Amino acid sequence: MNRVNEHILGFDIGGTKISGILSDSSGNIITSSRKMTVKHMGKERVLKDIEEMGNSMIEETGISPEKVSIVFAGLVDSDLGRIISSPNLFGLSDFNIVKDVKKIFSIETLLENDATAAAISEKVFGKGKNMDNFIYISLSTGIGGGIFANGKLVRGNKGLAGEIGHCIILPDGPVCGCGRRGCIEALAGGKAIARKIMENRTMLRESKFFSSIPAGKITAKHMFEGVKKGDMYAQLILEETLFYLSTAISNFICSFDPEAIIIGGGMSLAGNLLMAPLKQSIDENLKGMYRDVKIIKSDPENGKLAPVAVSVYEEKI
Ligand SMILES: [Zn+2]
Repeated sequence: MNRVNEHILGFDIGGTKISGILSDSSGNIITSSRKMTVKHMGKERVLKDIEEMGNSMIEETGISPEKVSIVFAGLVDSDLGRIISSPNLFGLSDFNIVKDVKKIFSIETLLENDATAAAISEKVFGKGKNMDNFIYISLSTGIGGGIFANGKLVRGNKGLAGEIGHCIILPDGPVCGCGRRGCIEALAGGKAIARKIMENRTMLRESKFFSSIPAGKITAKHMFEGVKKGDMYAQLILEETLFYLSTAISNFICSFDPEAIIIGGGMSLAGNLLMAPLKQSIDENLKGMYRDVKIIKSDPENGKLAPVAVSVYEEKI
């Protein structure tokens, strides 16, 4: 498709930082910047940071972007340009960020949820480029995702399709951030893994590896480190995580018959410590049905282009 090359000013507002980029629509990043966030950001501070970061990137490059694209870690209404809820940064719920950012830069402004944007980025620039059917799953502190079916992003009736982290796979399981019990996020998300280790006194006492880390500092990354070092308890936690993940992923595969499951997010950085046993576990679950579904790791660089991908994808449809 012949497309005019545009410049996009992108902002990714996450739990710990705001990442800014100025890129062309082919995904060539011209410059980037970042600012750390604080938990009680408030709307004014976010708008001020966006204005400062955007203006300094425009000044530095001398490029006037045609569009602004915002990616946000929380529930959003992309049609209205409104943040619905913000679980990581307080004071941003029910906030029409698009309206206010439009006032700053006076150009078209888009808003998308971060996991959905990452799925779009797989379609536009990444591993899903030549696929019509794939599911992107972000395994991070929480679990999110996006679904492409028949070549199109599945948004659903209210734009909430692809919130696969909140599929319940263990009724009466642990309480999830969404208020329900037994969601996959509450069982296999990074935060849930860390909690599981920290709440297990026997494990903390008897595992040589975990007992060497200050209890409050344990994260999902330590699970993978422990596995690498041959720690039996870390291996047990990984196996439990894989059991829940592969159960959920097998259900998604049966529902959508995808060509591939693309795994991204912080936990995917564990590489084959996660990917190889996950693939094996899914294969065992599906017992030959959907045998050729590929389980592949996302390229972490791709995430940076998520705001750009959202803008390019919007143009195409
Ligand atoms: Zn949930």
